[in-house]
Amino acid sequence: MPEVPVMTETLSLSPLCISMDDRDNVAIVANDGGLSAGTVFPSGLTLVDKVPQAHKVALVDIPEGGEVRRYNVVIGYALKDIAAGSWVHERLLKMPAARELTGLPIATVKPEPQPPLEGYTFEGYRNPDGSVGSRNILAITQTVQCVAGVTEFAVQRIKSELLPKYPHVDDVVALEHGYGCGVAIDAPDAIIPIRTLRNISLNPNFGGEVMVVSLGCEKLQPERLMPPGTIPLIDERNVADVGDSAESQLDVVCLQDDAHVGFMSMVDSIMRQAEEHLERLNARRRETVPASELVVGVQCGGSDAFSGVTANPAVGFCTDLLVRAGATVMFSEVTEVRDGIDQLTSRATTPEVAEAMIREMAWYDAYLDKGRVDRSANTTPGNKKGGLSNIVEKAMGSIVKSGKSPISGVIAPGEKVRQKGLIYAATPASDFICGTLQLAAGINLHVFTTGRGTPYGLAEVPVIKVATRSDLARRWHDLMDVNAGTIATGEKTIADVGWEMFHLMLDVASGRKKTWAEHWKLHNALVLFNPAPVT
Ligand code: CA
Repeated sequence: MPEVPVMTETLSLSPLCISMDDRDNVAIVANDGGLSAGTVFPSGLTLVDKVPQAHKVALVDIPEGGEVRRYNVVIGYALKDIAAGSWVHERLLKMPAARELTGLPIATVKPEPQPPLEGYTFEGYRNPDGSVGSRNILAITQTVQCVAGVTEFAVQRIKSELLPKYPHVDDVVALEHGYGCGVAIDAPDAIIPIRTLRNISLNPNFGGEVMVVSLGCEKLQPERLMPPGTIPLIDERNVADVGDSAESQLDVVCLQDDAHVGFMSMVDSIMRQAEEHLERLNARRRETVPASELVVGVQCGGSDAFSGVTANPAVGFCTDLLVRAGATVMFSEVTEVRDGIDQLTSRATTPEVAEAMIREMAWYDAYLDKGRVDRSANTTPGNKKGGLSNIVEKAMGSIVKSGKSPISGVIAPGEKVRQKGLIYAATPASDFICGTLQLAAGINLHVFTTGRGTPYGLAEVPVIKVATRSDLARRWHDLMDVNAGTIATGEKTIADVGWEMFHLMLDVASGRKKTWAEHWKLHNALVLFNPAPVT
């Protein structure tokens, strides 16, 4: 197949800056490589400074103390007079204080109901609990980090010796983590890591097959991790007769069990149990299901000032398509939506949803406060280099991933989503922790936008990565799945890229296409959110 030609002509684009709202007094420079001082825009504005790509230029003179507006939101106050055409970088801005969590608009916006999007389907694995997987994976749950080495050893042997016999199973994944012992397990917040691990084991991509490797003496005992009633009923083979009601039995390999003499005995046990699950998983087949069975988690990482102009608005457009198709979409990242809380509470479908959102924000404010920081601790050196001056600007660009749909539900960290529509899943913005918590929430697809570039991937669920800039998409042509940079150059519209993502999601969920992270097997670790003390 011939190589796709690299579109170098977009590099010589005439000077272009993009503002997000007519009332903004700054815009960002779109051209690859930035623009030099003296450059004249079609509007007549002349650059006073050299401005790097994705950084802000003042459209008018801004006096000292004056508001600097982007997305028609005050992203800062000028620390000195800024002349029109100047580079507006973070050292020129004083950040506004966070919005109080009182007196917020509650469920005030009633968006026009959008026509349902019908007829879209994908090929997925229907599970006994009704959920649908996009992949067919054997996951091995672990109660504690102590067993990670033994489990990984066994998984390598399962992959080489057993998996070839079960061609309908995509992969075997050890759910390794750092929790399980040496922790204050009765602290109220310990519920977060515990339910996260439990709900990850129940992710739709694992077919309801739960097998656990335990050490024996750890704090997080198997019954505490997966209490009776939480284990899916697969068939009569894992059912114990308990009077009139059937109840599933947890499949546990305990390394300290007296029966184990020597390391190989432990490995053999894990392999023997794994084969039972592999047999059942191997019998599963994809079937045509409506697009409403998609459960998509969106997040961003390595953001730049283009994130909020190209990739995130395209994801937002796609979010609205998914909601219209009856699917579930989750957006997250508390510190990146905190500054837009009024936009979110006003979009809540009911006062209860808005109150739940405020509760999650207040909890997180207190959590940050305990560490003597606030939401501004979020931004990275790369964000600033990419033109994002502060968390307010970053948040405004992040929040657009949620589109314009009404917000119909809120879940706390580690909880499983149980409804359709647009859901706010409260998680830290940390890429690895957000991804881990969205896995627990039950995603079968993950969408990740990036401007600076990150090779992020998950072993459990396909990750579709979206580049905010054509320059990144060109350089990382075999890591980025979608190029939203074409929006900045005018080659494509937000709607074009939004639809492209929607169709790609159906293809990836069906297994017809693999993401680049899947192709290269780029898998980041599960990272649990544990706000409770360790001991
Ligand atoms: Ca993130």
